[in-house]
Amino acid sequence: MRIWDEDQLALREGMRWWCRDLAAAGHDSAGHGDGTAGQDTGTSGFAWDAWKLVRSSGVLGLPFDPARGGAGADLPTTMFVLEALGEGCRDGGLSFSVATTMCSTGVALQQFGTDEQKDRYLPRVCSGELIGAHAISEPDTGSDALSMRTSAVRDGDHYILNGSKSFVTNGPVADTVVVYARTRPGGGPLGITAFLVDTDTPGFTAGRPLKKMGLSSAPMSELYLDGCRVPADRVVGGIGRGYLVLEHVMKWEILCSFIINVGEMQHRFERCLEYARTRTQFGKPIGSFQAIAHKLVDMRIRLETARRWLYDTGERLAAGEDVTMDVAIGKLLTSEANVASGLTAVQIFGGNGYMSEYGLDRELANAVAGTIYSGTTQIQYNRISSLLGL
Ligand SMILES: Cc1cc2nc3c(=O)[nH]c(=O)nc-3n(C[C@H](O)[C@H](O)[C@H](O)COP(=O)(O)OP(=O)(O)OC[C@H]3O[C@@H](n4cnc5c(N)ncnc54)[C@H](O)[C@@H]3O)c2cc1C
Repeated sequence: MRIWDEDQLALREGMRWWCRDLAAAGHDSAGHGDGTAGQDTGTSGFAWDAWKLVRSSGVLGLPFDPARGGAGADLPTTMFVLEALGEGCRDGGLSFSVATTMCSTGVALQQFGTDEQKDRYLPRVCSGELIGAHAISEPDTGSDALSMRTSAVRDGDHYILNGSKSFVTNGPVADTVVVYARTRPGGGPLGITAFLVDTDTPGFTAGRPLKKMGLSSAPMSELYLDGCRVPADRVVGGIGRGYLVLEHVMKWEILCSFIINVGEMQHRFERCLEYARTRTQFGKPIGSFQAIAHKLVDMRIRLETARRWLYDTGERLAAGEDVTMDVAIGKLLTSEANVASGLTAVQIFGGNGYMSEYGLDRELANAVAGTIYSGTTQIQYNRISSLLGL
Protein backbone atom coordinates (compact mmCIF):
# COMPACT_ATOMS: atom_id res chain seq x y z
CA MET A 1 0.00 0.00 0.00
CA ARG A 2 1.11 3.54 -0.75
CA ILE A 3 2.35 5.71 2.11
CA TRP A 4 0.34 8.92 1.93
CA ASP A 5 2.28 12.17 2.21
CA GLU A 6 1.42 15.19 4.35
CA ASP A 7 -0.48 17.01 1.60
CA GLN A 8 -2.62 13.96 0.88
CA LEU A 9 -3.32 13.40 4.56
CA ALA A 10 -4.26 17.08 4.91
CA LEU A 11 -6.69 16.82 1.99
CA ARG A 12 -8.28 13.77 3.59
CA GLU A 13 -8.49 15.44 6.98
CA GLY A 14 -10.12 18.46 5.29
CA MET A 15 -12.78 16.17 3.84
CA ARG A 16 -13.39 14.66 7.29
CA TRP A 17 -13.96 18.13 8.74
CA TRP A 18 -16.20 19.06 5.85
CA CYS A 19 -18.34 15.95 6.51
CA ARG A 20 -18.73 17.03 10.13
CA ASP A 21 -19.92 20.46 8.93
CA LEU A 22 -22.34 18.75 6.55
CA ALA A 23 -23.79 16.70 9.40
CA ALA A 24 -23.93 19.78 11.64
CA ALA A 25 -25.94 21.55 8.93
CA GLY A 26 -28.50 18.71 9.08
CA HIS A 27 -27.38 16.80 5.99
CA ASP A 28 -26.41 13.63 7.77
CA SER A 29 -29.04 11.45 6.14
CA ALA A 30 -30.85 11.37 2.85
CA GLY A 31 -34.29 10.37 4.08
CA HIS A 32 -36.45 8.90 1.35
CA GLY A 33 -36.46 11.85 -1.01
CA ASP A 34 -39.27 13.36 1.01
CA GLY A 35 -37.46 16.48 2.15
CA THR A 36 -35.86 15.43 5.42
CA ALA A 37 -35.51 18.32 7.87
CA GLY A 38 -32.86 20.82 6.87
CA GLN A 39 -32.79 19.76 3.23
CA ASP A 40 -34.05 21.63 0.23
CA THR A 41 -34.81 18.76 -2.15
CA GLY A 42 -37.29 20.62 -4.37
CA THR A 43 -39.28 18.22 -6.51
CA SER A 44 -36.28 16.31 -7.82
CA GLY A 45 -35.04 14.76 -4.58
CA PHE A 46 -31.77 16.60 -5.08
CA ALA A 47 -30.36 18.18 -1.92
CA TRP A 48 -29.66 21.68 -3.25
CA ASP A 49 -28.58 23.03 0.14
CA ALA A 50 -26.12 20.18 0.56
CA TRP A 51 -24.82 20.75 -2.98
CA LYS A 52 -23.95 24.33 -1.97
CA LEU A 53 -21.78 22.81 0.75
CA VAL A 54 -20.32 20.34 -1.76
CA ARG A 55 -19.31 23.31 -3.88
CA SER A 56 -17.52 24.88 -0.94
CA SER A 57 -15.58 21.66 -0.20
CA GLY A 58 -13.55 21.69 -3.41
CA VAL A 59 -14.03 17.93 -3.83
CA LEU A 60 -15.41 18.22 -7.37
CA GLY A 61 -12.21 19.71 -8.76
CA LEU A 62 -9.80 17.29 -7.10
CA PRO A 63 -8.39 15.48 -10.16
CA PHE A 64 -8.54 18.35 -12.62
CA ASP A 65 -6.08 20.81 -14.08
CA PRO A 66 -5.25 23.64 -11.62
CA ALA A 67 -5.25 26.06 -14.56
CA ARG A 68 -8.97 25.32 -14.92
CA GLY A 69 -9.93 25.42 -11.27
CA GLY A 70 -8.89 21.92 -10.25
CA ALA A 71 -6.56 20.69 -7.52
CA GLY A 72 -4.33 18.61 -9.81
CA ALA A 73 -4.55 15.49 -7.61
CA ASP A 74 -3.71 12.13 -9.15
CA LEU A 75 -6.25 9.30 -9.23
CA PRO A 76 -5.12 7.52 -6.02
CA THR A 77 -5.18 10.81 -4.09
CA THR A 78 -8.64 11.58 -5.46
CA MET A 79 -9.77 8.14 -4.30
CA PHE A 80 -8.19 8.68 -0.88
CA VAL A 81 -10.29 11.82 -0.36
CA LEU A 82 -13.43 10.24 -1.80
CA GLU A 83 -13.07 7.33 0.63
CA ALA A 84 -13.24 9.91 3.45
CA LEU A 85 -16.39 11.33 1.83
CA GLY A 86 -17.97 7.86 1.94
CA GLU A 87 -16.90 7.38 5.53
CA GLY A 88 -18.13 10.74 6.76
CA CYS A 89 -21.18 11.56 4.62
CA ARG A 90 -24.34 9.63 5.45
CA ASP A 91 -26.14 10.78 2.33
CA GLY A 92 -25.09 8.13 -0.21
CA GLY A 93 -27.10 9.83 -2.95
CA LEU A 94 -25.19 13.07 -2.52
CA SER A 95 -21.85 11.25 -2.73
CA PHE A 96 -23.10 9.43 -5.84
CA SER A 97 -24.04 12.73 -7.50
CA VAL A 98 -20.55 14.03 -6.71
CA ALA A 99 -18.85 11.00 -8.31
CA THR A 100 -21.23 11.22 -11.30
CA THR A 101 -20.51 14.88 -12.03
CA MET A 102 -16.78 14.40 -11.55
CA CYS A 103 -16.47 11.34 -13.78
CA SER A 104 -19.22 11.61 -16.39
CA THR A 105 -18.34 15.11 -17.47
CA GLY A 106 -15.08 16.20 -15.82
CA VAL A 107 -13.03 13.07 -16.50
CA ALA A 108 -14.37 12.77 -20.05
CA LEU A 109 -13.32 16.36 -20.79
CA GLN A 110 -10.00 16.23 -18.98
CA GLN A 111 -8.88 13.24 -21.04
CA PHE A 112 -10.62 13.82 -24.38
CA GLY A 113 -11.88 17.42 -24.50
CA THR A 114 -10.55 20.11 -26.81
CA ASP A 115 -8.93 23.16 -25.18
CA GLU A 116 -12.05 25.17 -26.00
CA GLN A 117 -14.30 22.55 -24.34
CA LYS A 118 -12.05 22.36 -21.29
CA ASP A 119 -11.96 26.16 -20.93
CA ARG A 120 -15.70 26.38 -21.28
CA TYR A 121 -16.81 23.53 -19.01
CA LEU A 122 -14.07 22.35 -16.62
CA PRO A 123 -13.97 25.44 -14.35
CA ARG A 124 -17.72 25.03 -13.78
CA VAL A 125 -17.37 21.29 -13.12
CA CYS A 126 -14.64 22.04 -10.57
CA SER A 127 -16.69 24.70 -8.80
CA GLY A 128 -19.90 22.64 -8.87
CA GLU A 129 -21.73 25.38 -10.74
CA LEU A 130 -22.33 22.76 -13.43
CA ILE A 131 -24.01 19.47 -12.55
CA GLY A 132 -23.00 16.77 -14.98
CA ALA A 133 -24.44 13.45 -16.11
CA HIS A 134 -23.93 10.85 -18.78
CA ALA A 135 -26.52 9.13 -20.90
CA ILE A 136 -25.65 5.69 -22.19
CA SER A 137 -28.51 3.32 -21.28
CA GLU A 138 -31.65 3.23 -23.39
CA PRO A 139 -34.99 1.53 -22.83
CA ASP A 140 -34.03 -1.39 -25.12
CA THR A 141 -30.27 -1.41 -24.56
CA GLY A 142 -29.02 -1.58 -20.97
CA SER A 143 -26.34 -4.22 -20.47
CA ASP A 144 -26.01 -4.37 -24.26
CA ALA A 145 -25.21 -0.64 -24.23
CA LEU A 146 -23.13 -0.65 -27.39
CA SER A 147 -26.24 -1.56 -29.39
CA MET A 148 -27.67 1.88 -28.53
CA ARG A 149 -30.01 3.41 -31.10
CA THR A 150 -29.98 7.13 -30.33
CA SER A 151 -28.75 8.64 -33.57
CA ALA A 152 -26.63 11.67 -34.38
CA VAL A 153 -26.69 12.85 -37.99
CA ARG A 154 -24.49 15.63 -39.34
CA ASP A 155 -26.30 18.72 -40.63
CA GLY A 156 -23.87 21.49 -41.61
CA ASP A 157 -21.95 22.53 -38.53
CA HIS A 158 -24.34 20.69 -36.19
CA TYR A 159 -25.38 17.14 -35.34
CA ILE A 160 -29.06 16.31 -34.96
CA LEU A 161 -29.70 13.90 -32.10
CA ASN A 162 -32.81 11.73 -31.87
CA GLY A 163 -33.66 9.03 -29.36
CA SER A 164 -34.25 8.45 -25.68
CA LYS A 165 -32.05 7.53 -22.74
CA SER A 166 -33.00 5.82 -19.51
CA PHE A 167 -31.85 5.78 -15.86
CA VAL A 168 -29.71 8.91 -16.13
CA THR A 169 -28.29 9.85 -12.72
CA ASN A 170 -28.53 13.62 -12.15
CA GLY A 171 -30.78 13.73 -15.27
CA PRO A 172 -33.43 16.02 -13.74
CA VAL A 173 -30.90 18.55 -12.44
CA ALA A 174 -27.98 18.35 -14.87
CA ASP A 175 -26.76 21.40 -16.77
CA THR A 176 -24.74 19.38 -19.25
CA VAL A 177 -25.01 15.73 -20.22
CA VAL A 178 -22.48 13.66 -22.11
CA VAL A 179 -24.80 11.85 -24.51
CA TYR A 180 -23.50 8.77 -26.30
CA ALA A 181 -25.13 8.39 -29.72
CA ARG A 182 -24.70 6.43 -32.90
CA THR A 183 -23.05 8.34 -35.75
CA ARG A 184 -22.73 5.29 -38.00
CA PRO A 185 -25.72 2.97 -38.31
CA GLY A 186 -24.73 -0.63 -37.66
CA GLY A 187 -21.19 0.54 -36.98
CA GLY A 188 -20.77 -1.45 -33.75
CA PRO A 189 -18.65 0.15 -31.02
CA LEU A 190 -16.82 2.34 -33.55
CA GLY A 191 -20.10 3.92 -34.61
CA ILE A 192 -20.61 5.60 -31.23
CA THR A 193 -19.75 9.23 -30.49
CA ALA A 194 -19.88 11.27 -27.28
CA PHE A 195 -21.56 14.69 -27.36
CA LEU A 196 -21.61 17.42 -24.73
CA VAL A 197 -25.22 18.52 -24.65
CA ASP A 198 -26.35 21.52 -22.61
CA THR A 199 -29.73 20.73 -21.16
CA ASP A 200 -31.22 24.03 -22.35
CA THR A 201 -30.63 23.00 -25.98
CA PRO A 202 -33.93 22.98 -27.93
CA GLY A 203 -35.05 19.38 -28.52
CA PHE A 204 -33.60 18.17 -25.21
CA THR A 205 -36.07 17.20 -22.47
CA ALA A 206 -35.54 15.51 -19.12
CA GLY A 207 -38.34 13.29 -17.87
CA ARG A 208 -39.82 13.35 -14.37
CA PRO A 209 -37.57 12.18 -11.54
CA LEU A 210 -37.97 8.41 -11.23
CA LYS A 211 -38.98 6.94 -7.88
CA LYS A 212 -36.41 4.38 -6.85
CA MET A 213 -35.35 2.06 -4.07
CA GLY A 214 -32.39 4.08 -2.78
CA LEU A 215 -29.88 6.84 -3.56
CA SER A 216 -32.86 9.13 -3.18
CA SER A 217 -30.94 12.39 -3.28
CA ALA A 218 -29.23 11.43 -6.55
CA PRO A 219 -32.17 12.12 -8.85
CA MET A 220 -32.61 10.07 -11.98
CA SER A 221 -34.72 10.47 -15.10
CA GLU A 222 -35.17 9.51 -18.70
CA LEU A 223 -33.91 11.95 -21.33
CA TYR A 224 -35.54 12.64 -24.69
CA LEU A 225 -33.70 13.94 -27.73
CA ASP A 226 -36.07 15.16 -30.40
CA GLY A 227 -34.25 16.84 -33.27
CA CYS A 228 -31.76 18.19 -30.72
CA ARG A 229 -29.22 20.36 -32.62
CA VAL A 230 -25.79 20.10 -31.05
CA PRO A 231 -22.87 22.13 -32.46
CA ALA A 232 -20.25 19.89 -34.08
CA ASP A 233 -17.61 21.36 -31.80
CA ARG A 234 -19.31 19.61 -28.85
CA VAL A 235 -18.11 16.19 -29.99
CA VAL A 236 -15.86 14.76 -27.27
CA GLY A 237 -12.89 12.67 -28.36
CA GLY A 238 -13.71 12.52 -32.07
CA ILE A 239 -16.35 10.92 -34.25
CA GLY A 240 -16.63 7.15 -33.70
CA ARG A 241 -14.46 7.35 -30.58
CA GLY A 242 -17.25 7.45 -28.00
CA TYR A 243 -16.48 3.87 -27.03
CA LEU A 244 -12.95 4.90 -25.97
CA VAL A 245 -14.33 7.85 -23.98
CA LEU A 246 -16.81 5.54 -22.26
CA GLU A 247 -14.17 2.91 -21.45
CA HIS A 248 -11.96 5.52 -19.79
CA VAL A 249 -14.81 7.21 -17.93
CA MET A 250 -16.15 3.87 -16.67
CA LYS A 251 -12.79 2.95 -15.15
CA TRP A 252 -12.73 6.24 -13.24
CA GLU A 253 -16.41 6.01 -12.33
CA ILE A 254 -15.96 2.52 -10.91
CA LEU A 255 -12.84 3.41 -8.93
CA CYS A 256 -14.27 6.68 -7.61
CA SER A 257 -17.79 5.56 -6.78
CA PHE A 258 -16.74 2.25 -5.25
CA ILE A 259 -13.99 3.74 -3.09
CA ILE A 260 -16.82 5.89 -1.68
CA ASN A 261 -18.60 2.59 -0.96
CA VAL A 262 -15.47 1.37 0.83
CA GLY A 263 -15.66 4.44 3.10
CA GLU A 264 -19.33 3.66 3.73
CA MET A 265 -18.44 0.04 4.57
CA GLN A 266 -15.74 1.24 6.99
CA HIS A 267 -18.25 3.42 8.83
CA ARG A 268 -20.82 0.61 8.93
CA PHE A 269 -18.23 -1.89 10.17
CA GLU A 270 -17.28 0.41 13.05
CA ARG A 271 -20.95 0.87 14.00
CA CYS A 272 -21.47 -2.89 13.98
CA LEU A 273 -18.36 -3.52 16.05
CA GLU A 274 -19.49 -1.01 18.65
CA TYR A 275 -22.99 -2.47 18.71
CA ALA A 276 -21.65 -6.02 19.09
CA ARG A 277 -19.57 -4.86 22.05
CA THR A 278 -22.35 -3.01 23.82
CA ARG A 279 -25.57 -4.88 23.09
CA THR A 280 -25.99 -7.67 25.61
CA GLN A 281 -28.17 -10.77 25.44
CA PHE A 282 -28.07 -13.84 27.68
CA GLY A 283 -25.89 -11.74 29.99
CA LYS A 284 -23.09 -11.21 27.46
CA PRO A 285 -22.20 -8.80 24.65
CA ILE A 286 -23.55 -10.27 21.41
CA GLY A 287 -20.03 -9.97 19.93
CA SER A 288 -18.94 -12.77 22.26
CA PHE A 289 -21.18 -15.16 20.33
CA GLN A 290 -19.12 -16.74 17.59
CA ALA A 291 -21.97 -16.39 15.09
CA ILE A 292 -21.83 -12.58 15.44
CA ALA A 293 -18.03 -12.36 15.76
CA HIS A 294 -17.58 -14.27 12.51
CA LYS A 295 -19.98 -11.95 10.72
CA LEU A 296 -17.75 -9.05 11.78
CA VAL A 297 -14.68 -10.89 10.58
CA ASP A 298 -16.33 -11.45 7.18
CA MET A 299 -17.24 -7.75 6.99
CA ARG A 300 -13.64 -6.80 7.76
CA ILE A 301 -12.16 -9.23 5.23
CA ARG A 302 -14.45 -8.00 2.46
CA LEU A 303 -13.78 -4.36 3.32
CA GLU A 304 -9.99 -4.70 3.38
CA THR A 305 -9.94 -6.81 0.20
CA ALA A 306 -12.06 -4.28 -1.69
CA ARG A 307 -10.02 -1.32 -0.41
CA ARG A 308 -6.67 -2.83 -1.34
CA TRP A 309 -7.89 -4.03 -4.71
CA LEU A 310 -9.30 -0.63 -5.69
CA TYR A 311 -6.21 1.32 -4.61
CA ASP A 312 -3.91 -1.14 -6.35
CA THR A 313 -5.99 -0.82 -9.53
CA GLY A 314 -6.05 2.98 -9.23
CA GLU A 315 -2.26 3.11 -8.84
CA ARG A 316 -1.76 0.94 -11.88
CA LEU A 317 -4.28 2.83 -14.01
CA ALA A 318 -2.52 6.09 -13.09
CA ALA A 319 0.76 4.45 -14.15
CA GLY A 320 -0.73 3.69 -17.58
CA GLU A 321 -1.16 -0.06 -17.14
CA ASP A 322 -4.00 -2.05 -18.68
CA VAL A 323 -6.38 -2.65 -15.78
CA THR A 324 -9.44 -3.77 -17.72
CA MET A 325 -9.79 -7.04 -15.82
CA ASP A 326 -8.83 -5.53 -12.47
CA VAL A 327 -11.52 -2.85 -12.78
CA ALA A 328 -14.14 -5.52 -13.52
CA ILE A 329 -12.97 -7.61 -10.54
CA GLY A 330 -12.89 -4.53 -8.28
CA LYS A 331 -16.39 -3.48 -9.32
CA LEU A 332 -17.79 -6.95 -8.82
CA LEU A 333 -16.15 -7.64 -5.48
CA THR A 334 -16.79 -4.21 -3.94
CA SER A 335 -20.44 -3.96 -4.95
CA GLU A 336 -21.19 -7.48 -3.71
CA ALA A 337 -19.17 -6.86 -0.52
CA ASN A 338 -21.20 -3.71 0.11
CA VAL A 339 -24.51 -5.59 -0.23
CA ALA A 340 -23.23 -8.36 2.08
CA SER A 341 -22.02 -5.74 4.57
CA GLY A 342 -25.36 -3.91 4.45
CA LEU A 343 -27.33 -7.11 5.05
CA THR A 344 -24.99 -8.29 7.81
CA ALA A 345 -25.31 -4.93 9.55
CA VAL A 346 -29.12 -5.26 9.62
CA GLN A 347 -28.75 -8.76 11.10
CA ILE A 348 -26.25 -7.66 13.76
CA PHE A 349 -28.56 -4.84 14.83
CA GLY A 350 -31.52 -7.24 14.96
CA GLY A 351 -34.90 -5.48 15.22
CA ASN A 352 -33.17 -2.14 15.45
CA GLY A 353 -31.46 -2.86 12.12
CA TYR A 354 -34.86 -3.05 10.47
CA MET A 355 -35.93 0.35 11.85
CA SER A 356 -35.43 3.31 9.54
CA GLU A 357 -34.23 5.37 12.47
CA TYR A 358 -30.93 3.46 12.29
CA GLY A 359 -30.47 4.19 8.58
CA LEU A 360 -29.29 0.69 7.71
CA ASP A 361 -32.28 0.13 5.43
CA ARG A 362 -31.20 3.07 3.25
CA GLU A 363 -27.61 1.89 3.22
CA LEU A 364 -28.65 -1.58 2.07
CA ALA A 365 -30.89 -0.15 -0.64
CA ASN A 366 -28.06 2.11 -1.82
CA ALA A 367 -25.64 -0.82 -1.87
CA VAL A 368 -27.93 -2.86 -4.12
CA ALA A 369 -27.66 -0.14 -6.79
CA GLY A 370 -23.93 -0.76 -6.99
CA THR A 371 -24.54 -4.25 -8.34
CA ILE A 372 -26.44 -2.69 -11.27
CA TYR A 373 -24.92 0.63 -12.38
CA SER A 374 -21.62 0.78 -14.31
CA GLY A 375 -22.34 -2.74 -15.62
CA THR A 376 -24.18 -5.36 -13.57
CA THR A 377 -22.48 -8.12 -11.58
CA GLN A 378 -23.40 -10.59 -14.33
CA ILE A 379 -21.85 -8.37 -17.00
CA GLN A 380 -18.63 -8.11 -14.94
CA TYR A 381 -18.55 -11.92 -14.77
CA ASN A 382 -18.96 -12.00 -18.55
CA ARG A 383 -16.15 -9.45 -19.03
CA ILE A 384 -13.77 -11.34 -16.80
CA SER A 385 -14.56 -14.70 -18.41
CA SER A 386 -14.10 -13.28 -21.88
CA LEU A 387 -10.75 -11.78 -20.83
CA LEU A 388 -9.82 -15.25 -19.61
CA GLY A 389 -10.47 -16.40 -23.17
CA LEU A 390 -13.64 -18.30 -22.27
C1 LIG B 1 -28.72 3.62 -9.45
C2 LIG B 1 -28.48 3.52 -10.93
C3 LIG B 1 -27.82 4.55 -11.59
C4 LIG B 1 -27.64 4.51 -12.97
N1 LIG B 1 -27.06 5.58 -13.60
C5 LIG B 1 -26.95 5.57 -14.95
C6 LIG B 1 -26.44 6.72 -15.64
O1 LIG B 1 -26.06 7.73 -15.03
N2 LIG B 1 -26.39 6.69 -17.01
C7 LIG B 1 -26.78 5.60 -17.71
O2 LIG B 1 -26.69 5.63 -18.93
N3 LIG B 1 -27.29 4.51 -17.09
C8 LIG B 1 -27.38 4.47 -15.73
N4 LIG B 1 -27.91 3.38 -15.08
C9 LIG B 1 -28.39 2.25 -15.87
C10 LIG B 1 -27.51 1.01 -15.71
O3 LIG B 1 -26.28 1.21 -16.34
C11 LIG B 1 -28.32 -0.18 -16.28
O4 LIG B 1 -29.44 -0.36 -15.44
C12 LIG B 1 -27.49 -1.45 -16.33
O5 LIG B 1 -26.45 -1.34 -17.31
C13 LIG B 1 -28.34 -2.67 -16.66
O6 LIG B 1 -29.16 -2.45 -17.76
P1 LIG B 1 -30.74 -2.77 -17.67
O7 LIG B 1 -31.27 -2.10 -16.46
O8 LIG B 1 -31.36 -2.44 -18.97
O9 LIG B 1 -30.82 -4.32 -17.39
P2 LIG B 1 -30.75 -5.48 -18.49
O10 LIG B 1 -29.61 -5.28 -19.40
O11 LIG B 1 -32.11 -5.67 -19.09
O12 LIG B 1 -30.43 -6.74 -17.56
C14 LIG B 1 -31.42 -7.40 -16.78
C15 LIG B 1 -30.75 -8.57 -16.09
O13 LIG B 1 -30.21 -9.48 -17.07
C16 LIG B 1 -28.82 -9.66 -16.85
N5 LIG B 1 -28.15 -9.80 -18.13
C17 LIG B 1 -28.27 -9.03 -19.24
N6 LIG B 1 -27.47 -9.46 -20.22
C18 LIG B 1 -26.80 -10.53 -19.71
C19 LIG B 1 -25.81 -11.41 -20.23
N7 LIG B 1 -25.31 -11.29 -21.47
N8 LIG B 1 -25.36 -12.41 -19.42
C20 LIG B 1 -25.82 -12.56 -18.16
N9 LIG B 1 -26.76 -11.75 -17.61
C21 LIG B 1 -27.24 -10.75 -18.39
C22 LIG B 1 -28.37 -8.42 -16.11
O14 LIG B 1 -27.17 -8.64 -15.37
C23 LIG B 1 -29.56 -8.16 -15.21
O15 LIG B 1 -29.48 -8.99 -14.09
C24 LIG B 1 -28.10 3.39 -13.70
C25 LIG B 1 -28.76 2.34 -13.03
C26 LIG B 1 -28.94 2.41 -11.67
C27 LIG B 1 -29.66 1.28 -10.97
